[in-house]
This record gives sequence, structure tokens and C-alpha cells, in this order.
Amino acid sequence: MRVAVYPGSFDPVTNGHVDIIRRGAKLFDKLYVVLGKNVSKQSLFTLEERIDLTSKAVADLAHVEVIVSEDKLTVDLAKSMGASVILRGLRAATDFEYEFTMAMTNAKLSPEIETVFLTADNEHMYLSSSMMKEIAKFSGDVSNFVPKGVVDALKEKFDD
Ligand code: ADP
Repeated sequence: MRVAVYPGSFDPVTNGHVDIIRRGAKLFDKLYVVLGKNVSKQSLFTLEERIDLTSKAVADLAHVEVIVSEDKLTVDLAKSMGASVILRGLRAATDFEYEFTMAMTNAKLSPEIETVFLTADNEHMYLSSSMMKEIAKFSGDVSNFVPKGVVDALKEKFDD
């Protein structure tokens, strides 16, 4: 059984994340989407909101499950879930340095866990959660970039 974890902040989940999850789901028997409890970045959405929005966005995928990482290193979380792969998405060159460093560090910590990268497709190459928050803050239309539930949640956050 091939099990993978896909860790991230998902603050909020975008169509780019969902694309990686859909494509990753085809490669693994079980895919855990892992939301960090203590993200170093200040998050807009609470953990509960991020779980809810992400779960709804992938609800049709039977072997995908959204879980929370309880103050654990990703490699330890992977091991505790029986996963041998950490899945990550790569957008432009800007992601490379950070992702490479992270993958190397995780490989040093746990050589038996592999990091697998899926490249973003053309349509989602320039999508980021922070960009979505910026657009929504100024009442821009994000409906082409995020799942429906996230469009509404962003509107609610920035409604005065
Ligand atoms: P983190 O805070 O761990 O970077 P993110 O939620 O920003 O969490 O991203 C999680 C993963 O998804 C990262 O590997 C990131 O590169 C990838 N990712 C983010 N946006 C996209 C996108 N539009 N297309 C493909 N992969 C993406």
C-alpha cells in the first residue's frame, strides 16, 4: 500500500493545491493532506476553518483524508501515518530553493522517506494563498482561482 502525506498551510486552499491533491491521489493508495497546527506564518483562517475548507474541496476523493499535524516534524508525522512519501508542489523557480532545502533536510532526518514533487500545471503556476488573500482584501474576484467554499469564506473574512 502506497501512502503519502501532503503537508502545507492551506491558508486557504487554492485550485493549485487541489490540482496537486487530485493528481497525487492517482499515484497513491492513500493520501493524507496535513494541515500544520502551528504555522510559522500568521494565518488568516483558523485551523478549524482551514480543515473545513480543504476537506470540502476534496470531498469527492475517497482515499484522500485531511488531518492535522500535532506539533510534529513532517517526517515523524509521515512515519506515524505509515507513509513513505512526502508530496509537495513546485511552482516557478521561486519555490525551488525552499523546497530543495526542505527535501534535503527531511532526507537527512529520515532517509527512508522520499519527497516527491509534482510541478504545477500552467493554469495554476502563479496561484498562491497569499495572492488570494490580497485580491480578496480589495474585493477582487477570486472565483477562478479557489474552490467555491473558499470564495465565500474569503468574502466573509473581508466583509466589514
Ligand atoms: P507551506 O506553508 O508549507 O509552503 P502552502 O499551503 O503554501 O504551505 O503550500 C503547500 C504545498 O503546495 C507546497 O509544496 C507548495 O509549493 C504547493 N503549492 C502551493 N500553491 C501551489 C500551486 N498553485 N500549484 C502547485 N503547488 C502549489
